[in-house]
Amino acid sequence: MVDCCSAPGLIPFEQALENMLAAIKPITDVENITLIQALGRVLSNDITSPINVPGHNNSAMDGYAFAHESLQNQQSLTLVGRSMAGQPFEGECKKGQCIRIMTGAKIPADCDTVEMQENCQVDGENIHFLAPRHRGDNVRLAGEDISRDQVVFKTGRRLSAIDIGVLASLGINELSVYRKLNVALIATGDELKALGQPLESGDIFESNSYALSAMLKNLNVNVINFGVIADDEKAIREAFLQADAQADAVISSGGVSVGDADYTKLVLEQIGEIAFWKIAMKPGKPFAFGKLPNSIFFGLPGNPVSAMVTADLLAMPALMKLQNCQANPAITLHAKTVTDLRKAPGRMDFQRGVLSYNEQGELMVTSTGNQGSGILTSIAAANCYIVLPAEQGRVKANATVNIRLFERFFA
Ligand code: AMP
Ligand code: MG
Repeated sequence: MVDCCSAPGLIPFEQALENMLAAIKPITDVENITLIQALGRVLSNDITSPINVPGHNNSAMDGYAFAHESLQNQQSLTLVGRSMAGQPFEGECKKGQCIRIMTGAKIPADCDTVEMQENCQVDGENIHFLAPRHRGDNVRLAGEDISRDQVVFKTGRRLSAIDIGVLASLGINELSVYRKLNVALIATGDELKALGQPLESGDIFESNSYALSAMLKNLNVNVINFGVIADDEKAIREAFLQADAQADAVISSGGVSVGDADYTKLVLEQIGEIAFWKIAMKPGKPFAFGKLPNSIFFGLPGNPVSAMVTADLLAMPALMKLQNCQANPAITLHAKTVTDLRKAPGRMDFQRGVLSYNEQGELMVTSTGNQGSGILTSIAAANCYIVLPAEQGRVKANATVNIRLFERFFA
């Protein structure tokens, strides 16, 4: 069966993504923030370390520190002091001597090796070493993790909880980051009711703005929610213009197709420009990308699954480019499909599946069933996309398919 939507004039998915990214000019405004505010922000310059980490040679164990050559011909050393974390030993530790040392404590300049206490016998001031040791054992060297002036994070990095820990360990409290993006959300449709409103005959609850707003939290942008706008040319034009005045990017959902109440394309042509608006992907064929006078515009399809998938695969990477974020490339895995997969040649499919291992340790993927673009459970139950190339037809069970794990935008 030929896919009814695979009409000529559709742009391949990869090409659409590439064209869109090429058309986006990242913002340049930066601001200074303190580390506690830095989660999810994008660095606007390289960070170099002002110090060595660790800052001094220190012990990896609770035990005894000494010069390795002291233990060449004897099995015992004389205890002459102790070094605690934050309270270093300031005396001399000569040949034949050792000091008590705790994890993280500074190792004196005349010591180069640490033995853990489990391998020592204590007899007053005499410490007996029960096992052979190599020079440098249990010593963490100054700068072995990060050396002074080393570039730790590059410009464009989105700061994670781990990064914030690393920056704190370097004593860095002030950072320069790109300003937050302002992103406007507009839902269009006469049938859409806000939560809390009664549903009349033919109405549904508006859900796209909730899902999209939650996805955008992962990008750490300011969301300006315009709620539901009626299927009315004038109302949509007004909303688009207002959103454009306030936002760096405007995301609408619904009304982007060719139905009688679909005004998105028309209004976009009146007040801005459309770069393209039909992509050979499923779900998500009707997707508009364009420019308004001050902002970039994404017109997502109204069907909730299509809206989420096009937001994930197209709008999110575009917004990341706009905010200067250097993204890691998506990783493709290979898995065997448990069932046959329905597919007609024409568009690239992003079917939803559950990836797991079978008893032989092979990666297997199970389709979440009905892949209709209104079937929210098809995405709620999934943990990955099954990516089927445009020219691909029906897939037989046990065939190997490409898998793309869901990214954090859906988290
Ligand atoms: P449209 O793209 O406007 O033709 O809408 C396609 C389908 O998605 C219709 O069934 C709409 O009712 C539904 N839809 C559109 N917008 C939303 C929304 N914001 N939330 C939930 N469903 C929507
Ligand atoms: Mg509609």
